[in-house]
Amino acid sequence: MAYSLHAALAGNPNSGKSTVFNALTGSRQHVGNYPGITVEKKDGVAKLADKTVHITDLPGAYSLTAYSQEELVARKVLVEERPDVVINILDAGALSRNLYLTVQLLEMGVPLVLGLNMLDELPAKGISIDIKRLGALLKTPTIGTVARNKEGLDELLTSACEVAVKYKGQAWNPITISYGNDLDPVIEEMTALITQNNFLTTKYPARWTAIKYLEADEEILSAGRAENPEVAGKLEELYEKVARHLKTTLDTYPEAVIADYRYGFISSIVRNGVVTQRDELARRASLSDKIDTVLTNTFVGPLIMIGIVYLIYKLTFLLGEAPLGYLEDFFAWLGEAVGNSLGEGVLSSLLVDGVIGGVGAVLGFAPLIMVIFILVAILEDSGYMARMAYMLDRIFRYFGLHGNTVMPFIISGGIAGGCAVPGVMATRTLRSPKEKLASILTAPLFACGAKLPVFLLICAVFFPEHADMVMFMITISAWILALLVAKLLRSTVLRGESTPFVMELPPYRMPTFKGVLLHMWERTWAYIRKAGTIILAVTIIIWAGLSYPELPQDIIDTYDTQRKQIETQLPDADEASLEEALADVDNEQALAALRNSYAGRLGVTLEPISEYAGFNWRVNLALIGGFAAKEVVVSTLGTAYSLGDVDPEEAESLQNQIKADSSWNIATGISFIIFVLIYAPCFPTLAVIKQESASWGWMIFATVFNTVLAFLLAVAAYQILYRVLVL
Ligand code: GDP
Ligand code: MG
Repeated sequence: MAYSLHAALAGNPNSGKSTVFNALTGSRQHVGNYPGITVEKKDGVAKLADKTVHITDLPGAYSLTAYSQEELVARKVLVEERPDVVINILDAGALSRNLYLTVQLLEMGVPLVLGLNMLDELPAKGISIDIKRLGALLKTPTIGTVARNKEGLDELLTSACEVAVKYKGQAWNPITISYGNDLDPVIEEMTALITQNNFLTTKYPARWTAIKYLEADEEILSAGRAENPEVAGKLEELYEKVARHLKTTLDTYPEAVIADYRYGFISSIVRNGVVTQRDELARRASLSDKIDTVLTNTFVGPLIMIGIVYLIYKLTFLLGEAPLGYLEDFFAWLGEAVGNSLGEGVLSSLLVDGVIGGVGAVLGFAPLIMVIFILVAILEDSGYMARMAYMLDRIFRYFGLHGNTVMPFIISGGIAGGCAVPGVMATRTLRSPKEKLASILTAPLFACGAKLPVFLLICAVFFPEHADMVMFMITISAWILALLVAKLLRSTVLRGESTPFVMELPPYRMPTFKGVLLHMWERTWAYIRKAGTIILAVTIIIWAGLSYPELPQDIIDTYDTQRKQIETQLPDADEASLEEALADVDNEQALAALRNSYAGRLGVTLEPISEYAGFNWRVNLALIGGFAAKEVVVSTLGTAYSLGDVDPEEAESLQNQIKADSSWNIATGISFIIFVLIYAPCFPTLAVIKQESASWGWMIFATVFNTVLAFLLAVAAYQILYRVLVL
């Protein structure tokens, strides 16, 4: 069958494009101007066996952003004429600079072939390039050429035809590059907005448009305003917001960050065994490189990394302990004060037991969490976090994960205090669907910010002396567990090839005081806001579930009778022992009421099963609440213990109430930590899992698998610790 294909030649000025064009088309060419402008337009025809290839020589361009007329024209031809294949000619002697355009072509998703030109000049420059490896890392056919001698050109054309035929009629397939923690969420938000509104989507891939908005690309901006002023307005607002944020935190602007990350992506490829420079002396070791010889050293690097993670917890408790105590005392005092002034009643119980007991328990941990966030912000802003990802990649490979999974893990709470929602979203940088799924399913296994207060509570009760060590152990265990689960998934339901890894190492930067504080405050504020909204709502629902139905009147009567009996039977007893006996009855009644409530009954019903893990009915309740959001675990415990505690004048902190509850012991504490760490992801995380995996099935899998795994491990831990070691 005779084919007629359309190919476009793209490349930097002086990369040899015209030389390639002339060699391929010979005399079959036509030179004119692009309509209305003086940029030269050259069209020609090449023949390859049964195929006729129409070739357009695009104007030379360094980028596809609207910086120059040439760049605009090149982009316009790609978008409007939709060539079947783009042949990107690169000057091999200036590979990094030339790849800047390539990256943008890949981000557009056009069917692409690379012609690595001017190979004849490499020896004189002392450079050698592994062309195969370059092609594999970019997942793009790459052919070495010397256009001036027509070397490699037939191969280049053949390869271009193959790609054109293979992708004919298919949608473009853009790659996703991470632009870091500041821009990625904005890009996601913009992309979602663009997709929902079909905003310019007939012309450009959604994410590409989002990136152009962040690059403040004039042409796209005005095209956007013409398309849909309302959506365009929202996108511009998002841009303004992140631009202001970058200005204040890092004193930079989105365009610069985007360029930085693109060059980061390129240098990670070039450094990844693609380019070897014979003359090592020519490579001036920058300060970053010097620091990296120590910090990412094969042996010392991982040790330093573990040391830093440990130091984070050590410092957290050192700095956060005192404020933690003040806040605890404050909420205890507040509960007492409100209880005393309102007396007994529904409103008082709602405020004291529900709101102050529940939300106070969550807010009480804010100081510790703030310190953790400060330290994590320092690691992030300095560029060390990226090095952690780089080092961990070597280990990840073994467990069937991709190096790009390290970031989602760290974001999810790999160091501490992350969140699986952006963590799961960050898996978008993974191109292999199976590696992506394995990352999505394991990211919720980390100690996210919401689980921290649960762990901190157990530490305060059972390990007050070694809280930092226990938190450190939890973190390490989460990593080991996530890797083992990934290995399990990748060798069963998600079996498949692994793909090569490319890592961006931004230069080290001195974090600014203001930047660190702002990053810390953003996260802390999100935590506090959550406590004031979702957690407050769930807490009130749980309080109601624990307060109703009230005990039937006949049972209340029996307690009243008991009290009367005590008063009549002990007429001569001293005041103190009489009061004690009466308080016992009060407590018994409160407990009976709790167990009789809707929520209480549910907790009690589950007790025969949960017993194996050492959980009493109050813990069951807390864990059920935690399906919605993990902070609710602590707030529910707060409410459940607060309601069972009848004497408002001696409102005890949750810690002390757990200490006083004989059904808790160290084995229960550890089994509780294990269960909370692993069981079902919270509702918001499940929503993004559904979105990212595009399947209800994987969302349900994450819920059921994690909960079953959590229960089995909790039972195992409890049985061993309690029955065998008798803790
Ligand atoms: P364009 O700006 O991309 O169209 O680049 P040209 O095709 O005009 O080439 C720029 C210069 O590089 C010309 O002097 C070409 O002769 C030269 N050139 C093209 N290909 C090669 C090659 O493979 N090796 C060498 N050494 N020179 C080349
Ligand atoms: Mg030219």
